Amino acid sequence: CGIVGYAGNVTTPSMKPLDVCLQGLERLEYRGYDSAGVALTAPGMGRVAVRKKAGRLSNLVEDIERHPLPDATVAIGHTRWATNGEPNDVNAHPHCSRDGKVAIIHNGIIENASQLRLDLQAEGYHFVSATDTEVAAKLLGKVVDTVIAETGEPNLLEAMCLMSRMLEGAFTILAVDARQPGIVVGARHDSPLVVGVGDGENFLGSDVAAFVAYTKTAMEIGQDQAVQISADEIVVTDFEGNEPTDEANIFTVDW
Ligand code: GLU
Repeated sequence: CGIVGYAGNVTTPSMKPLDVCLQGLERLEYRGYDSAGVALTAPGMGRVAVRKKAGRLSNLVEDIERHPLPDATVAIGHTRWATNGEPNDVNAHPHCSRDGKVAIIHNGIIENASQLRLDLQAEGYHFVSATDTEVAAKLLGKVVDTVIAETGEPNLLEAMCLMSRMLEGAFTILAVDARQPGIVVGARHDSPLVVGVGDGENFLGSDVAAFVAYTKTAMEIGQDQAVQISADEIVVTDFEGNEPTDEANIFTVDW
């Protein structure tokens, strides 16, 4: 339902990525939701840290206050409006890859999730939630591993493009990978995704409310496009990995 992502500079963590995400989620509350969650990572973490709770955003915030999360360079946050699987802690986003190195959040409905789930189960994948989103999480983890096997290097953007081509339905997806702790990657089909262009930091949101407190410069991601943000770079491609020929749709948010 509500999506926010943040990539900042490792050496100047003036704004904690977690705080940016929690504030973004607060601003997205107007959309309505039943659960909330965050994932974050930083160099040397090995796995992505995930925290999620059914109910009000304050449940999540209180839980994080009781059991603090580690400092991070990148983070993603989600408020869920359940479509596949009841609203509870396990079904809340983010969802993780099998090895816990990749976490994703998702708006929309993946129509071919049941078939993809069966295919992955046949390969030995185990599912903990009832969501369509976990199917995309397991699939993305698998595709990242395939890319590593072929090239020797993780490439979350390439994996996101390859996976997006396997999905049917509507989706905005953001992902982080503990092996690439400086980037957040996103993709969209029939569901919106906007970049917030910062200075030494960049943002992603399902709408500009997610980051308007930090930057008024925004860039719309087009249909069937993927994006990678880091502290000081924004890369957009189509799902084939080609850079778009159209000029970027950059606008100033009039809040
Ligand atoms: N279909 C997903 C789910 O039920 C995402 C719902 C949403 O857009 O929040 O978990």
